[in-house]
Amino acid sequence: MKTSYLFIPTILGISVQSSNLQQPVPAGLGDHDIQVYPQELGLEASAAQGVKLLDSIIKSSPLLSFHRSIVQIPSISDDEKTVGDFILDFLSAHNFTTEKQLVSPDTKDHDERFNIYAYTGEKRHVDILLTSHIDTVPPYIPYSLHAPTKPTTSPYKFNRTDLLIAGRGTVDAKASVAAMIFALIETLEEDQNPTASLGLLLTVGEENSGAGMKFFSNSDLNPTPPIFRTVIFGEPTDLNLVAGHKGTFGFKVTAHGKAAHSGYPWLGTSAISSLLPVLSVLDGLEDRSPEEGGLLRGEKLGQSTLNIGVVRGGVAGNVVPAFAEAGVKIRLAAGTVEDTRGIIERAVEEGKGKVKAGNGIGDDDAGIELSFDRGSLPQFFDTDVDGFEVITVNYGTDAFSLRIGEGGHRVRRYLYGPGSIHVAHADDEAITVGEIEEAVRGFKRLISATL
Ligand SMILES: [Zn+2]
Repeated sequence: MKTSYLFIPTILGISVQSSNLQQPVPAGLGDHDIQVYPQELGLEASAAQGVKLLDSIIKSSPLLSFHRSIVQIPSISDDEKTVGDFILDFLSAHNFTTEKQLVSPDTKDHDERFNIYAYTGEKRHVDILLTSHIDTVPPYIPYSLHAPTKPTTSPYKFNRTDLLIAGRGTVDAKASVAAMIFALIETLEEDQNPTASLGLLLTVGEENSGAGMKFFSNSDLNPTPPIFRTVIFGEPTDLNLVAGHKGTFGFKVTAHGKAAHSGYPWLGTSAISSLLPVLSVLDGLEDRSPEEGGLLRGEKLGQSTLNIGVVRGGVAGNVVPAFAEAGVKIRLAAGTVEDTRGIIERAVEEGKGKVKAGNGIGDDDAGIELSFDRGSLPQFFDTDVDGFEVITVNYGTDAFSLRIGEGGHRVRRYLYGPGSIHVAHADDEAITVGEIEEAVRGFKRLISATL
């Protein structure tokens, strides 16, 4: 048996072992097993042929082709216009009534930014709203396809659903965007006159400011009391339903001192020496019980956590530092923002009490100041649809920014989507064909359960 090796550079990321001559099987489009016979590609196979093979899997699926198109258009927050125009055209071509909701107009230095609002049927104010975002975090990472594993059998087989699609936004959140659009299209194909009206909201700026969802919240598309009965948020949840995610609360601690020569420290006041005991108390809040002044815990979301993410201060080793500051972010599992603000204020007082004698201007405030951001509450979602695993997650979503007016009926909210948050925002952001396809079925199940 003649054995030779065929290397299909980079795109397959594999070497395929060629063995005895068998009839090559076409790349199994439509069925699930892909069999790669190297001789099908020829021993001289070029990278271009390798690309063609994987490419044909994407090309044969309208869903995967659409996903590819929107990933290939970069849309880092603040620069979403091109992908927005593409999706608008696609939706119009598929019988949606579309609206561009202008979040910020075209200016000399900046393209316009808009949310996409789309619905089917007559009703502009829909019963069921599916929503996700079209912006991504930086940097742009190009779209690429990767065969799943090294070949261990001959012929080398892989399941088409395991084909890996990599690039920025493949998961967060363009997989959700593509899957929800196709779930809507398929739902309407299967049921021409659904009992409820269906709509889609695709926002800008989710990753950096929530600007798109905040704009929608205050627009005439979001009346009080609410008209929609169900909102389905699409974000990477590994195809699980999410019961809740934590809120966030950030603050800055600033210490002011007085500069002096480090040989004569008693002539100055060290801002860093004032800040350190305060940070030490804050750093321990996660491990203390709430009764002892620690951060709050919740039944669903567990422990609130605290991260001291930035510390800055001083100018040189031989100068007593006149200034120091720390940036802190808390992920709130329970309670209100005000509750946690009180916990932080008390902890800072305790820390100030530990600043060594003689280091504080006037000694009662140790030159320490606190400034808080507005914070956002933990969010809880509905999970009452059978057939899904239920999890909680530690990241925030547009659910923070969607204000649901008082009065009227209770609005059900679900959070679901394909792909893992562990690779979203990372350099190796990637998703399998199978996850995207399963998400279409998942969104359809959520839609039909709430219809
Ligand atoms: Zn996202």
